[in-house]
Amino acid sequence: MPLPDPLTGLAARAPYRGRFAPSPTGPLHFGSLVAALGSCLDARAQRGAWLLRIEDLDRGRAAPDAARRILQTLESLGFEWDGDALYQSGRIDLYRDALARLQGDGRVFPCACSRSEVEARSRRRSVDGGALYPGTCRDGLPVGAVARSWRMRAPDREFSFIDRVLGEIRQNPAREVGDFVLFRADGEFAYQLAVVVDDAAQGVNAVVRGADLVDSTVRQIHLQECLGLPTPTYAHLPVAVDRAGQKLSKQTRAEPVDASRGAALLVEALRFLGQSVPEDLARAPLSEFWSQAVAGWSIRSVPKKRAIPLTPFIEGA
Ligand code: GLU
Repeated sequence: MPLPDPLTGLAARAPYRGRFAPSPTGPLHFGSLVAALGSCLDARAQRGAWLLRIEDLDRGRAAPDAARRILQTLESLGFEWDGDALYQSGRIDLYRDALARLQGDGRVFPCACSRSEVEARSRRRSVDGGALYPGTCRDGLPVGAVARSWRMRAPDREFSFIDRVLGEIRQNPAREVGDFVLFRADGEFAYQLAVVVDDAAQGVNAVVRGADLVDSTVRQIHLQECLGLPTPTYAHLPVAVDRAGQKLSKQTRAEPVDASRGAALLVEALRFLGQSVPEDLARAPLSEFWSQAVAGWSIRSVPKKRAIPLTPFIEGA
């Protein structure tokens, strides 16, 4: 049971529940290791729970066996998660229910546009780098058009939240994002909807993840508000980029981490997160690494940056 807050005496906040939510598009690489380590240490340093969720909705991008290999790599590095890993592919009914609620409230609309039509008609770029949806089907499908996807109406007002690493983040979804897809033309539910449903269903109240997702957060906060779900706290960690500034990702075939390096590998991820690390920790047994890393964890030391280039030494670790 949580204790009352010593400063205010008020009933305590709910116990910390964090998570790591990899997409199984390939083996664990250094960038995802950083997110796994940061989210786990932040949870354990607050004696919280740390859950695992496999975000395997995008069947087109899933790599065979990747989920099992990711879990195995985490396990062999001494990560311990609470309960069983949750697989999004087994939870489609929940996403369908959430979409039905949004449909009932008029928050979403059917859209007939293909990606190339959006691209051709759009005059602005979204924060995601793609074409900002020009609103073609917002007020009804064109006559004879067939719905391919469902989009959420992007509200035209400024949202802000305090990121625990990056500070205040502001965004106007209508201007910077555009109406965004929740149910895709290929019949899959989109990440933005699934992540909100599952963070709430798993009782997650503290999200720690890569800063490549910071621009998605306002969409998620808006969805939480529309679905009557609580908003967790957010902390976005710097993302590892290569020398050309590209995010290391499973799709760009970033090297899988070599888990047999044990604490030496984890220490590189810890240093990337700005933590001070005792000289000999890289040679310590894993149990020693974890107890020292949890005791020393300071989210305030994490660099307040969205991206950090890896030194050649770490790259491909
Ligand atoms: N599945 C996402 C990824 O691997 C992370 C989602 C999240 O942490 O919200 O990039």
